[in-house]
Amino acid sequence: SSPHVVIIGGGTGGATAAKYLKMGDETIRVTVIEANQIYRRCYGSNEVLTGYIDIEDIAITYDALQGKYGVEFIFDTVMEVDPQTRLITLKTGGKVTYDRLIVSPGIDFIWDGVEGYSEDVAQNAMPHSWKAGEQTLLLKRQIDAMPDNGTMIIVPPVNPYRCPPGPYERASLMSEMFQKIKPKAKILILDPKDGFAKDKPFMLGWNRLYDFQIPESKMDGMPEDINTYDQPGMIEWISGSAGGKVEAVDASAMTVTTEFGDTFHGDVINFIPAQKAAKLAFDMDLVDGNWCPINHLTMESTRHANIHVIGDSCVADVMPKSGYSANTQAKVVAAQILHLLREEEPEEPTWSNVCFSRVSSEYGVSVGGIYRLDHESGKIISTKGAGGVSPLDASHQFNRLEALYQEAWMENFVADSFG
Ligand code: FAD
Repeated sequence: SSPHVVIIGGGTGGATAAKYLKMGDETIRVTVIEANQIYRRCYGSNEVLTGYIDIEDIAITYDALQGKYGVEFIFDTVMEVDPQTRLITLKTGGKVTYDRLIVSPGIDFIWDGVEGYSEDVAQNAMPHSWKAGEQTLLLKRQIDAMPDNGTMIIVPPVNPYRCPPGPYERASLMSEMFQKIKPKAKILILDPKDGFAKDKPFMLGWNRLYDFQIPESKMDGMPEDINTYDQPGMIEWISGSAGGKVEAVDASAMTVTTEFGDTFHGDVINFIPAQKAAKLAFDMDLVDGNWCPINHLTMESTRHANIHVIGDSCVADVMPKSGYSANTQAKVVAAQILHLLREEEPEEPTWSNVCFSRVSSEYGVSVGGIYRLDHESGKIISTKGAGGVSPLDASHQFNRLEALYQEAWMENFVADSFG
């Protein structure tokens, strides 16, 4: 009988792997086990917060993977996997066996470490909105109800986390919306870090569009025609070393207190906690620390044979935790599993990533990379001379084009992963 590849998690990584396995060899049996019938993608969820699109616009069904590619689906939650007998146990009691297993379960949050913060606080008072769905809608309701001169506090997490530029794109699109409907509103970013993905291109855009004061530490390389302001504009960013690290929250007072002892009140507090691999990865004993170590040639777990880990949960060295990364990791793992099943040598892998973000609907910035395997260290490294970040001396036209590329990417990417 034909080999059976099972994939746990029908998110961006898992869905892409299923599709590309079937495209590579339609005779292979591919089963995805996924907890939810509908996938709500995070990319685009910042536009749900601003009301540019609706929550239903980020919902994806598995119709194409099932109908067009013949991928089998089991909608259930995986409770346990025995790597010796290759037996998966489902919440409803069902059992599934595999020849090779791919795991792409995404992330979970680290709830402890910040005084006063908990899962309950996130669910009721300070949503993270870092998994799309209920959390997106909760944060949106709070933003809509915010007073016109209110303050929204965004607390980005420490590295590594899902979607490094995400919190800053969120601040950008919020500003664009607030300018139109709540022009006296403020966005305060209290960051544990001293820098972030594309920070200079973001800050230049904020300076041009939202009266942002560029901090001295980010001035190097900025064009001469930046604006200077004598007070903070709509967005204010406080870095970790300037006192941005939040150490305590008070959900009833709606305040956060920093390492330096300053307390800030927010009408809306979007606290995005530190992250780790999804619970399943811990249950399956795939983690070392917070993430899943893998052999990068085949993306097979270094802890259990015949189990491959991709997407946000895996350790992918210099690759960011993004949907784009999960998608190219899925393509690599699909190709390598087809080789392994035929008892062939794995091929030389390459990966890529582009993170597009919008500073406004008509102003885009991006960062891209091409990656390869360094056989000596076993690590994924950047290919020299490939990729890069949006230049600081870009023309208006260039930034406009980048916003269009982002829109086109979103559509093509969803089709590539799920369609
Ligand atoms: P996921 O897509 O989260 O999929 C995991 C799946 O596993 C889920 O469907 C879950 O239900 C399932 N699962 C987990 N445990 C079990 C279990 N025990 N049993 C059954 N099923 C299970 N990336 C980009 O490339 N570009 C962007 O512009 C971008 N924007 C973003 C904006 C925001 C605000 C956020 C938060 C993220 C953004 N991302 C973006 C990141 C992207 O969403 C993630 O990196 C990507 O979804 C990771 O894919 P994954 O397969 O690892 O996990």
